[in-house]
Amino acid sequence: MSDMAFRIEAVRARIRAAAQAAGRDPAGIRLVGVSKTHPVEAVHAAFAAGLVDFGENRVQELVPKMEAGPPGAVWHMIGTLQTNKIRHLAGRVDWIHSVPGAAALHEISKRAVAHGRTIRVLLQVNISGEGTKSGCEPDELPALVAAAAGLPGVDLRGLMGMAAPADDPETVRPQFALLRQLRDRHLSPAHELSMGMSHDLEAAIAEGATMVRVGTAIFGERDYLQT
Ligand SMILES: *Cc1c(COP(=O)(O)O)cnc(C)c1O
Repeated sequence: MSDMAFRIEAVRARIRAAAQAAGRDPAGIRLVGVSKTHPVEAVHAAFAAGLVDFGENRVQELVPKMEAGPPGAVWHMIGTLQTNKIRHLAGRVDWIHSVPGAAALHEISKRAVAHGRTIRVLLQVNISGEGTKSGCEPDELPALVAAAAGLPGVDLRGLMGMAAPADDPETVRPQFALLRQLRDRHLSPAHELSMGMSHDLEAAIAEGATMVRVGTAIFGERDYLQT
């Protein structure tokens, strides 16, 4: 087994264990490998080891990786979304997790329709209560859900959130629980919950995550000076 295959399997084992502890089917949890700052060769290696879903947090990194990556990869935009950059993504991206508001929804719709595509989107919600975190506020959700319902080319599939960094991820479980409650109230239990990263995926799965976004545990530490 390659190092890459070994690390992916280790993350899948964590997902299985967390699902089992929560009485959930691990097949209901999609692993999105966050390849940001790592070269496209790492994406090819991970794809060869069986990983299909890849996430990036910057448009200028996602676009070239979508072009040079494996043709069968499923691509997720997970980072802060600037409305004026959506047109660069719309021809290829499969999921956008980080939709912060109505302007972005309208732009995704317009650009997806121009490409004859439908893009799956998640509304990002500020669950950490930190001013610096992007995403809408919980009380904006009803209006955004209603707006998405009327837009062609946009398939609203659920919610995304990031918990505050914490030494003990158990302490941020209430933030994940909040996202689940918001989903159940404003969408349905069948909708997606994108939450959980390398250090807190167990807590997120315990609270119902259906997509976990894992970078470091698969690709290793990031060296931001390289990018
Ligand atoms: C970088 C990033 C991740 C992955 O973080 P790790 O701690 O490396 O697993 C997940 N979600 C978002 C939005 C990110 O930017």
